[in-house]
Amino acid sequence: MHVHRTYRAKIRNHSQVEQMLDLHGWSASKLWNVANYHSRQVWEETGEIPDDSDLKRELKGHDNYKGLHSQSSQRVLEELAEAFNSWYGKRKNDSRANPPGYRKKNYYDDNGNRVHEEHPRSTVTWKQKGIRHDPKHNRVRLSKGANHKEHPRDWDYILVEYETRPDVTVENIQQVRAVYDTAKGRWELHLVCKHEVETPDAPGTETAGIDLGICNFAAVAYSTEEADLYPGNRLKQDGYYFPKEIAKCDDSGGKEATRLHAKWSERRTHFFHSLAKHIVERCVERGVGRINIGKLNGVREDENRESKNWGRRGNLDLHGWAFDRFTKILTYKAKVEGIEVIEVSERDTSKTCCACGREDDSQRVERGLYVCEECDAAFNADVNGAENIRLDINQRNSESAGQLSGDRSTGWLAQPGVYLHDLSHGFSPREQVVDCKP
Ligand SMILES: [Zn+2]
Repeated sequence: MHVHRTYRAKIRNHSQVEQMLDLHGWSASKLWNVANYHSRQVWEETGEIPDDSDLKRELKGHDNYKGLHSQSSQRVLEELAEAFNSWYGKRKNDSRANPPGYRKKNYYDDNGNRVHEEHPRSTVTWKQKGIRHDPKHNRVRLSKGANHKEHPRDWDYILVEYETRPDVTVENIQQVRAVYDTAKGRWELHLVCKHEVETPDAPGTETAGIDLGICNFAAVAYSTEEADLYPGNRLKQDGYYFPKEIAKCDDSGGKEATRLHAKWSERRTHFFHSLAKHIVERCVERGVGRINIGKLNGVREDENRESKNWGRRGNLDLHGWAFDRFTKILTYKAKVEGIEVIEVSERDTSKTCCACGREDDSQRVERGLYVCEECDAAFNADVNGAENIRLDINQRNSESAGQLSGDRSTGWLAQPGVYLHDLSHGFSPREQVVDCKP
C-alpha cells in the first residue's frame, strides 16, 4: 500500500534562491491572470467555462506559460479550472458568489490613474519531471521556466537546500511546492513523498455508518450500539463570518481578500482532518473494519424524489464539495488503519425507520427527532440516517428490513454522544444534545 505524506521544509540557502523563487511566484500569478481573463471571455461568448485541457491547449504558446516549467504551468491552469468549477456550482444557488479573482493589486495616484501593479507570490508546484532530488545532501533541483534563463549558460534549475524535522525521511518525491509565508517574508518548501507501507489488518469486524449534513456535519452509528454526533457549528460560524469580512474588502482579488480566503480554507481543512482522525480513532477502539458513508451521487440520480432530502441538507451544491473532500480525507486515514470505507446510496435513509424498516413519506422529524408511528420510537434523526447507511438499506430486500429490531436495543439511537470542536483542543465530548436551529 502507498501513502503520500507532505513534509514542510525550511530553505537553508534562502538568500541565494529567494529572488528566483520570487520570479517564479510572480510568473504563476501572471499565468493565473491571463488564463482567468481568457476563461471569462470564453464564458461571455459561449456561456461555457473552458476546462483545464482547453486552457492548456490555448495557452501553451503564451509567453507567461514559459515563466514556469511546463508541468508547473499546467498545475496553475488546473487550479484555475477547479476554482471556476466550484464557482459554477455555487452560483446556481448563490447569486453573490464571485468567480475566481485576479492575483494582482493596483495602486492609483490622486487622479485615479494606475501607477503601479503588483503581483503576489503564488505557490509554485513542481511535478516529477521538474524535480531532481539529491537525498544525500538534502537538496532538490527545481526546473526553471524558460523565461528565467537569461543567458544560455544559466543553470536550468534552482538548487534548493532544505531542512526537515530530523525524524522525517524524504524519499520518492512526487511533488514540491514552494509556498511564500507572507508573515515571515520567506519561502518554504512542501515536499510530497510516496511511502511504501504494509497494509495493516482491520481492527475488527464491527461496522459503522456515517451520515453527513449541515447541522450535524457528521452522525456516526456503530454496530456496537453506540452513536456519535459532530455538530458543524464551527463551519457554520465561519460560513457567516468570512463572507462578511471578504465583502468588506475594496478589492475582491486583493491581498486582504486573498488572505481571508486562505484563512477560511485552512480552518475548514483543519476541521476535516481532525474530524476524520477522531472518527477513525473511535473506529479503531470499537474494532470497526468497515465504514459505510452516504454517497451524494446516489441522491442526484433521482432529484425529484429526493427533494426532501435536499431540503434537509440545505444547499447540496454548495456543500457537496465539502462532503466529497471530507470523504476523501476519511478514506485515506481509515485505510492507514486497515479500515475500508465504502460509499453507499443514501436514498430513503432519512425517511426510513432504522428499527422496523417502515418508510414514511411525511418524514416526521421534530426538533431533530425521527418519530416512527409503527414501532412508536423516537430516535435522533441524523443517527437514524447514519444507522440506515450502516445497514445499507438500499441493498437489502424488504423482508429483512422489517426484522432489524429483533433483539437489538434501540435506546442508544436516541442518546448519541456529542463532540464539539475547538481549534486548540480538537474534539471533546459534550454532555447534552444540542438543538439544531436551522
Ligand atoms: Zn419504526
